[in-house]
Amino acid sequence: MEVKIPSFVYIQRGAFGKLKKVLEKIGSENPMIVTDPVVSEILKDRISGLGIEKILVNEASILEARRVVLSLSYSDVDAIIGIGGGKVLDVSKVVASELNVPFLSVPTTASHDGIASPVASFKEGGKPVSITTKAPIAVIADLEIIESCPRRLIHSGFGDLISNITAVKDWRLSRDLTGESYNEVAASIATIPAYLLIAKANGEFDLIKDLELLLRGLIMSGVAIAMVGSSRPASGAEHKFSHALDYLGYGNATHGEQVGLGTIIFEFMY
Ligand SMILES: [Zn+2]
Repeated sequence: MEVKIPSFVYIQRGAFGKLKKVLEKIGSENPMIVTDPVVSEILKDRISGLGIEKILVNEASILEARRVVLSLSYSDVDAIIGIGGGKVLDVSKVVASELNVPFLSVPTTASHDGIASPVASFKEGGKPVSITTKAPIAVIADLEIIESCPRRLIHSGFGDLISNITAVKDWRLSRDLTGESYNEVAASIATIPAYLLIAKANGEFDLIKDLELLLRGLIMSGVAIAMVGSSRPASGAEHKFSHALDYLGYGNATHGEQVGLGTIIFEFMY
């Protein structure tokens, strides 16, 4: 089985400047930016400085992804650059998969592990729907940009990262009870950054200083998912709990907040 993991990962201040170099390396001559109106306005100078055409998405839905695919299907676009939060990246990765071109992920938040995972998650009619997509060929996480995103979204990222702990416990339980196939390397990649963060929780934890660690962890989650071809290393009962909240119409918090709360509940049960 071929495992696709990002070939280019930059997590640093000013990483945005690496975008052109990555496009050159992958031989892209006609890339397209997918972003939303808010990000497009906030990063106006940076985006226009790239001199690359952009297409704006208004919502995270399968329909919106189809609209973008249709509008690009007769073009010679050879790479999709998703610049934005989880919603933009989810639409972008579906578009890249449908067009069969490389996907470059440029997150502007650190709110969940979708920044590097080969899975797009949507809420259709309030119900969660997941679509398997290409993994990004590059993840360009500019700390300067992400630092200024709303704090609540960074907190959400921590919630999604620690959820790997109970997700992997569930995975092991299923291996022992049902014989489900299990991969220790993927499990370790998914959980080590989460345990590193937990170890800091009672010490000198700093939201901004530890942002890089969070991003590494979220990217590693995506890699673990790509390795096993399933969200098992990063999604267990705590994600089911979040999905249940959504199904029942109580899912008004962010993904990371909901799964983070689920993690506390299911960790207690272990
Ligand atoms: Zn998640």
